[in-house]
Amino acid sequence: MKITQVEPIVLQVPIDPPVQTSFGRMDRRVAILVRVCSDEGLCGWGESWGNFPSWSPQERVRTLSDGVAPLLIGEDASEIAWLHQKLSRTLRPLGLQWGAPGPLWQAISAVDIALWDLKGQALGRPIYELWGGSAQRLPVYASGLGPVAPETLCAPFLERGVDAFKLKVGFGLEIDRANVSRLRGVVGDDAILLVDANQGLDFARALELAPTLHETGVDTIEEPFPVDEPELIEPFRLRTGLKVAGGENLYGRTGFRRALEGGSFDLVQPDVAKTGGLTEMYAICSLATAWGVPYAPHYLGGAVGFAASLHVLAAVPGGWRMEMDANPNPLLQELAGDLLDLEDGCLTPPRGPGLGLSLQEGVIRRYRLSL
Ligand SMILES: [Mg+2]
Repeated sequence: MKITQVEPIVLQVPIDPPVQTSFGRMDRRVAILVRVCSDEGLCGWGESWGNFPSWSPQERVRTLSDGVAPLLIGEDASEIAWLHQKLSRTLRPLGLQWGAPGPLWQAISAVDIALWDLKGQALGRPIYELWGGSAQRLPVYASGLGPVAPETLCAPFLERGVDAFKLKVGFGLEIDRANVSRLRGVVGDDAILLVDANQGLDFARALELAPTLHETGVDTIEEPFPVDEPELIEPFRLRTGLKVAGGENLYGRTGFRRALEGGSFDLVQPDVAKTGGLTEMYAICSLATAWGVPYAPHYLGGAVGFAASLHVLAAVPGGWRMEMDANPNPLLQELAGDLLDLEDGCLTPPRGPGLGLSLQEGVIRRYRLSL
């Protein structure tokens, strides 16, 4: 099964209101997809994270077409482990030299997911089944809430039995305090409530927020500090008694090994479209369980990466919940089919071969950017 084509396909759609985080606002949704085709007529889909910066689609298309595709064309698509090693060994040093390892890992992520999709299709089995998993019910948590009226996005999730929520903080103590109290009031005392600072706090501001978190029954904060300051985490834990989650901005199993050795996280959140694809996710999530740390796939992109994340959760023991973005995203909702059908707060992974997705060509045509 020789690889004949590696085609980046970028989808983009403006959104209003924009999605705000402590470090920026996203006024459009983007899905950087890649279609990898073989000489046997099958094509697999992958996705590369591209939420920030706004010019990431242009960069990623060049990285995929000029950097990644030449390493794959003509290779045997079924040899995923070896292809993943070839890509990471060749491109990782380049990323370090460039000073931007992330975009290269994000590009590798897309083709790795596509290769697993291809393999599953060729064998007629869903990816989780190739890994020894099963079509079990996978609990979710609703994320992306706030900073404006966080309670409004909660309602459809509460109605469908979701009992875990994540609020964005880092917008100033007054706003953060008001939002976490309001959200607790809406979701009820029994719901699990986390906060995510998106690296937006310094040590003093994080300490100021801690009493509010205790009062409102929040025991975990995600990415309180810039991820290149992991030395702040342990003193913060000791001072506050709070748990710390993170991982969406770490790359590869080596990055996670280092974080786990350093005791950085109580909950690990790798992103399949950033950290190296399904091959790397399997290694990272298994590594986390070996350290006794639960994992929860991070995800705020389109349908392809979301489906891939469900396959991980269905196959690697030790998962906590799937992240489900509560903000509107046509590139997730219009391409997902029945992937997002919540029942009692749970999703089930797609049962079809490979990723189990049937992407509608009409939706792809409607949102496709010509780059
Ligand atoms: Mg986050």
